[in-house]
Amino acid sequence: MNNIKIYNSFSSNVEDFKPVNKPYLIGMYTCGPTVYSFTHTGHLRTYVFEDILKKLLIQNDFLVEHVMNTTDIGHLTSDSDTGEDKMEKQAKKENKSVYQIANFYTKDFLWNLKQLNITRPNILAPASLHIKEQIDIIKKLENKGYVYKTSDGLYFDTSKVENYKTIFNQNKEELKSDERIENISEKKNPTDFALWKFSPKDEKRQMEWKSPWGIGFPGWHTECVAMAFKYLGSYFDIHCGGADHIPVHHPNEIAQAEAVTGKPLAKYWIHFGFLLKNSEKMSKSSGNFTKLVDLIDLKINPLAYRVFVLGTYYRKTADFSIEAVQSSHNALNNLYSFSEKIKTLKWLKLFKKIKFNNIKSNDKILNQYYENFINALNDDLNTPKAMEILWSMVSDINKNIYSFNPSSILKTLNKFDSILSLNIVNHKVDRIPWKIKVLAKKRFIFKRQKKFELSDQLRDQITTLGYQINDYQTFYTISKIK
Ligand SMILES: [Zn+2]
Repeated sequence: MNNIKIYNSFSSNVEDFKPVNKPYLIGMYTCGPTVYSFTHTGHLRTYVFEDILKKLLIQNDFLVEHVMNTTDIGHLTSDSDTGEDKMEKQAKKENKSVYQIANFYTKDFLWNLKQLNITRPNILAPASLHIKEQIDIIKKLENKGYVYKTSDGLYFDTSKVENYKTIFNQNKEELKSDERIENISEKKNPTDFALWKFSPKDEKRQMEWKSPWGIGFPGWHTECVAMAFKYLGSYFDIHCGGADHIPVHHPNEIAQAEAVTGKPLAKYWIHFGFLLKNSEKMSKSSGNFTKLVDLIDLKINPLAYRVFVLGTYYRKTADFSIEAVQSSHNALNNLYSFSEKIKTLKWLKLFKKIKFNNIKSNDKILNQYYENFINALNDDLNTPKAMEILWSMVSDINKNIYSFNPSSILKTLNKFDSILSLNIVNHKVDRIPWKIKVLAKKRFIFKRQKKFELSDQLRDQITTLGYQINDYQTFYTISKIK
């Protein structure tokens, strides 16, 4: 087992990763989507990195229990608990029920995960199915004296949590002017947040429940604590989310957990930087976003977006552009061509069609590349460096292709891909018709006999039929022209 280092927002330091409870089982909670609108590439950046982190832990011999919520209740248009409920607002707009909206956009979210080879969480749970758990937490907070009532709901008194203002080393005094912490007249402190909101007296909400305090619905910040407690226990290993959760949502989760258990919910708090488009944060609310399906419409492989994401360090912001994703698409295709070439070589070697050099010692080189790759990722999830190592391995093999065992190369690529999940070896390959294969074989024989005119004629014929020959020193591959 290697040594993983990761930046912990809670301590503002890069720390050695040491599991909290069991030495082999990691509890990981990631804040999920509010399912009122389509998932876009801005959100997906976070989900890709969470997937990489999870797969890296598995590669380091840990088991990971991954829990994610979907917010289908209580997320208001302002993070400070004012404005409309995002779900109810969208339901009215689309003339559907809140449940239909939640169902539709949850499916969209899962479709996006699938396109990007992101492994689904072990538990993906909607907030509306955990009302009892949320009420239980609010009751506990009430008993401990953290709760006060206003005309529109129950609020958490953040002044009662000693370290609240310095969680993630943020100065909450400065944040007062932030619109997300806007003051509601009855709140005792600007940073206090709603635990339970009463349904408006003159309006019947689609989602509302009875509680000891009156009919209403839970606030957004309680659902993650409720689900984390239920599925991962009161103190677990990793809590992740986008950097937008640093100022409000995550401190509020920590405050509630501290109040109930005296512990900050998770040991490692990991945050992923924003995705910018035209120098502004990509977001649903501003309308400044691109969806994965928009890329697919441009005939870009969705996994190219994964390559794009991995190219920038997770704590930095990344600049999105179609051109950048297009160039990741080309890079991915180069990787696929490389693996097709190696697959062809594997067959040629099997049938002893090509002479290979002393390949045994080069297995060591491949192992070293893989070790360097894991070390880069273990060093605070340095994906740009890990990708660089992959590219330099490909380039070194290309320079010396007959001195590596093709089977070992494919095995190593698969090991890289157990984390990268780019389908490097197992990508979809266009079936090459028999007729094309025969023409290509004839062309190759003509070429070897130096009958170049005839071989060129066949190449043209193959091109007209929509295929191309990729020539290498002693062999060739065929691919469909796209
Ligand atoms: Zn959350």
